[in-house]
Amino acid sequence: MSLNEEIFDFYKRLDRSLFIDNEFREYAGEDKALPIGFEQTISQPSLVLEMTLHLDLNKESKVLEIGTGSGYQTALLAEFSREIYSVERISELSQKAQERLSKLGYKNVSFRVGDGSEGWIQYAPYERIIVTAGAGIIPKELIEQLALGGKMVIPVGKKEVQELNLISKDKQGEITKESLGKVRFVPLVGKYTY
Ligand code: SAH
Repeated sequence: MSLNEEIFDFYKRLDRSLFIDNEFREYAGEDKALPIGFEQTISQPSLVLEMTLHLDLNKESKVLEIGTGSGYQTALLAEFSREIYSVERISELSQKAQERLSKLGYKNVSFRVGDGSEGWIQYAPYERIIVTAGAGIIPKELIEQLALGGKMVIPVGKKEVQELNLISKDKQGEITKESLGKVRFVPLVGKYTY
């Protein structure tokens, strides 16, 4: 199996209801974004899969995730990467995500509660960065914390609609940007919000 096939296989088996503990749990099997409290949402599974595949993960990668949320995206990252550093500003959400991922047996995820707009400098650089909240512009700190040869997936745009961007940094530090289509995320709160 190729890595993408393995990711797809894992995605099919991962029970999204484990990441939802409110009345929307019964809709976990549908390909829809659902509320997870605190005005936040868990994205539709197909988009989580798509973003994960575009990240082009490997078992050597150290990954920075901004917006832990329910921890559903985190589980996909943790399964196919070496280490994950995941930042979430709402402590209750981070706490629940930590419990879920620890129950699932993941030991390669470090969590931080706080504003992730400026990344997590302590463990930089990261081979992969994923932002699961909408930004107005690409935070320069995240570009700086991306390793040479690294990739970042981030929604950038306005409140109503954002463009999902794939940012690549080559071995010389040159940045290229590819557009992956329109998406709609909750805001990346802080100085880079849309
Ligand atoms: N990937 C998540 C979905 C997250 S929704 C999942 O699979 O469930 C976006 C999350 O980003 C929310 O939980 C929100 O609180 C968080 N967020 C928004 N702005 C943030 C910021 N500046 N720093 C850290 N987390 C932020």
